[in-house]
Amino acid sequence: MKVKLLKPRWDSGVSIINLSHSEIQSRGLKTLFLDVDGTLIPRHENNINHLVKDWIDIAKNHFYLHLISNNPSRSRIKNIADQLSLTYSYRASKPSRKKLLDFINTSGISKDGSAIIGDRLFTDILAGNRLGLYTILVKPTNSNGLTCLNNNIQNIEIKIASIIGAFK
Ligand SMILES: [Mg+2]
Repeated sequence: MKVKLLKPRWDSGVSIINLSHSEIQSRGLKTLFLDVDGTLIPRHENNINHLVKDWIDIAKNHFYLHLISNNPSRSRIKNIADQLSLTYSYRASKPSRKKLLDFINTSGISKDGSAIIGDRLFTDILAGNRLGLYTILVKPTNSNGLTCLNNNIQNIEIKIASIIGAFK
């Protein structure tokens, strides 16, 4: 593994609802691939928080959005996509590039100007960097749509990536 592939282009330090739409735009981005579990909703919840829905609704005015989830449950990801009126891919096996690449190729989206937003280095960020997408790391969200303070998995990933020289 090339270690630089674990480094997000933008380590935002905030949960998704605190990402500024205009700051994303200023980086020349037009398409956003969004991770689901952890990024938009805690893994064991089913209903999208209204703050997250509001953020998505505003984002739709500026970007093309698509959900890209490793979750194997089609019904879970479809239910979340339906709440947000978005297209989705499930069982994506990130850091594999295949599902992302399949979607990019069939939809005619350009990789230039496309970003993946996610909460995990070893899946979302690695997949995005391998594909040459812009990569944005967010803090996991809690059930209120705010930054989850109990953030052990991301902290461990950052620690490992730092030890092998891949994060800073
Ligand atoms: Mg996630």
